[in-house]
Amino acid sequence: MKYLDEYRDAPVVRNVLAEIKRTVTRPWTLMEVCGGQTHSIIRHGLDQLLPEQIELVHGPGCPVCVTPLELIDKALVLAARPDVIFTSYGDMLRVPGTFVYAKTGTQANDLFSVKSQGGDVRIVYSPLDALKIARENPYKTVVFFAVGFETTAPANGMAVQQAAREGLDNFCVLVSHVTVPPAITAIMEAPETRVNGFLAAGHVCTIMGVGEYRPLAEKYRIPIVVTGFEPLDLAYGILNVVKQLEAGAYEVENAYARTAPNQGNLAAQKVINEVFEACDRAWRGIGVIPQSGYRLREKYVKFDAERRFPDVGAMQSIESDICRSGEVLQGLLKPDQCPAFGKQCTPLTPLGATMVSSEGACAAYYKYGRIQD
Ligand code: SF4
Repeated sequence: MKYLDEYRDAPVVRNVLAEIKRTVTRPWTLMEVCGGQTHSIIRHGLDQLLPEQIELVHGPGCPVCVTPLELIDKALVLAARPDVIFTSYGDMLRVPGTFVYAKTGTQANDLFSVKSQGGDVRIVYSPLDALKIARENPYKTVVFFAVGFETTAPANGMAVQQAAREGLDNFCVLVSHVTVPPAITAIMEAPETRVNGFLAAGHVCTIMGVGEYRPLAEKYRIPIVVTGFEPLDLAYGILNVVKQLEAGAYEVENAYARTAPNQGNLAAQKVINEVFEACDRAWRGIGVIPQSGYRLREKYVKFDAERRFPDVGAMQSIESDICRSGEVLQGLLKPDQCPAFGKQCTPLTPLGATMVSSEGACAAYYKYGRIQD
């Protein structure tokens, strides 16, 4: 397939890996920000093909994984209401929250369980699907779980704009949008960080461009290379970070220019700026990161599910005391170093979101057989 096969060409990838081997002279720790990159790295065994001086650690770029438990619990409570149709991407349905009472009076701790016990929970592939459901069900309130990084914010913002244009007052969004640059700041400010350089997420830069990474590279003196998702993209991104580290450089490079123009997508940025404003956000397992998320601007606040249903209020959320996904998401722990990995915690018995999300690091390690005997 054009634009795919050539980025999976094994001999070409091997050549880049050989160049990395020739270039590296010292130990370096690199973080790939995005969970999609983590899955590609583990799937293709790239981390195992690198010289031993280079360690890859996995970053917080899995939107499902970092959605705070309290918001998952709010989703469960809303989904259990008889007057609500709760819509979400499929990824969120198995994310474990705290137990809530579902329609049948029994307890449920994920959206699938709420659905199986009578809640009207529907998987959608776009926020526009949720709008359609709202048009077809005027006597119910349709809540869309607006989760994601800068990549999904434009489509979710457009859905809110469209609802406003149509006067679709039975539509609202439960917002859990987060942004990458403040997360990089939090990782670099953490005293225990070992990260020397970043592979930035190419699709986020497709929307936002590369400009906002320059102050970070300068402040923390770290190379940041905007990288794609195929094996050649990742190997090439790693090579460019290593070249910079070995040379003492700390530039922002765009190694994904075929998709991510340096200025990003100006039309998408316009929608984000029109609908959302920056706010502090809690990241599951990590805590509150200042100015790391989006919330609806006052103009659109009537589409905010948390305002629409103020009675949901503050949740008594209880996090698993076994799960160490916060450390996994900050690159401090590899999934197979978690004592519960593959034992108490599997995709069928998940203790944390990182085991069920399609971009979760724990899910990647499990799926591709990184299970120690
Ligand atoms: S393996 Fe399971 S328990 Fe351990 S960090 Fe991952 S999700 Fe949490």
